[in-house]
Amino acid sequence: MKVNKYSTQFIDKNDINFVKDTLSKEFLTQGSVNKKFEQSLSKYTKSNYSITLNSATSALHVACLSLGLSKDDILWTSVNSFVASSNSALYCGAKIDFIDIDLDTFNISIKSLENKLAKAKMYNCLPKIITVVHLGGNPCNMKLIKTLSRKYKFKIIEDASHAMGAKYSDSNVGSCKYSDVTIFSYYPVKMITTGEGGSLHTNYKKIFEKANLYRSHGIVRDVKSPITKKIESWYYEQTYLGFNYRMSDINAALGYSQLKKLNKFVKKRNELAGVYNKFLKKNKFVKTQKIENGNKSSYHLFIILIKNNTRTYNFELINFLHKFNISSQLHYLPIHLQPYYREFGFKKGDFKNAELYSKKALSIPLHFSMTSSDVEFVSKKINQYFAIK
Ligand SMILES: *Cc1c(COP(=O)(O)O)cnc(C)c1O
Repeated sequence: MKVNKYSTQFIDKNDINFVKDTLSKEFLTQGSVNKKFEQSLSKYTKSNYSITLNSATSALHVACLSLGLSKDDILWTSVNSFVASSNSALYCGAKIDFIDIDLDTFNISIKSLENKLAKAKMYNCLPKIITVVHLGGNPCNMKLIKTLSRKYKFKIIEDASHAMGAKYSDSNVGSCKYSDVTIFSYYPVKMITTGEGGSLHTNYKKIFEKANLYRSHGIVRDVKSPITKKIESWYYEQTYLGFNYRMSDINAALGYSQLKKLNKFVKKRNELAGVYNKFLKKNKFVKTQKIENGNKSSYHLFIILIKNNTRTYNFELINFLHKFNISSQLHYLPIHLQPYYREFGFKKGDFKNAELYSKKALSIPLHFSMTSSDVEFVSKKINQYFAIK
């Protein structure tokens, strides 16, 4: 049984050999393998520029900085996300606010967003950036969000940590067709892994150049020395306060090799999701995630929401499944209810849909090594819990 994890990495011999080969190269960081991985990422996503970073959290931070987010600015994001989506704004000293979710797609509610923007315009507190999150790999409605961004003049970051390999309408998630920046995570449970790692994608040269600087101490090397008036190997200048957010070539090697399998991963996850949907359809107490017409989820997560039964909480079903060695998880406790965020004045009742979701949702096992019979086993246990034959 492969259901004792809700998600996990898949590493094969090719991955191992490619990492091994990289270990005997001259450069273990800032080398050719990183370049190769970045080129293959641009090719896959169809974005003009790709840069690797040591995590998606770093990528979000760099994205915010490159879009000019600072002290007096506001960033909004989905209240149902990993804390990194909002922490990145706080790293820049900016203010944070959240958008409630839709209980069908589990992504931000476009209606809530529209209402909140109209109000913010009245009070002159519009956000500079909105970070949208494609929850579980399900693409948000980017066309509507893009239209709103033109009307209210905000920038868009796609936190696509879950959504590598997903398709929105006519484009790949990562193409940045409807956003300024997209970021991916390569943490082990995500679609592909580099151990720890992330990447940033954009079609704007200016954003790319800034992101590149922030990744590596804000240091530029292609400047002339004031002494020799030439570009020198020993001369560099620091122009911004940057960081060391670089990915090593060892990690990049794993990513490069993993990326070759991404299409296979997405295909398998979609097939298994289809099997879940088939078995859970007859269960009137369970709702699965709505993927809008014309889009394709990467199915990083398979999320179910308990409905029509006000007395059952997700933790009860999680505990029941645990008895059969089936692991499930909540993605996520709403960010505004984290103790750290409550100190900003956020409280229970601020985002009602996400709060209800956090009591009723669970992510059940879905990953590449599972089989249809694993999915059938999990589905039957869920149906058994609700006494459905
Ligand atoms: C995993 C994740 C991140 C952070 O990724 P790291 O690579 O671990 O920094 C950010 N946002 C979301 C939605 C995630 O799931």
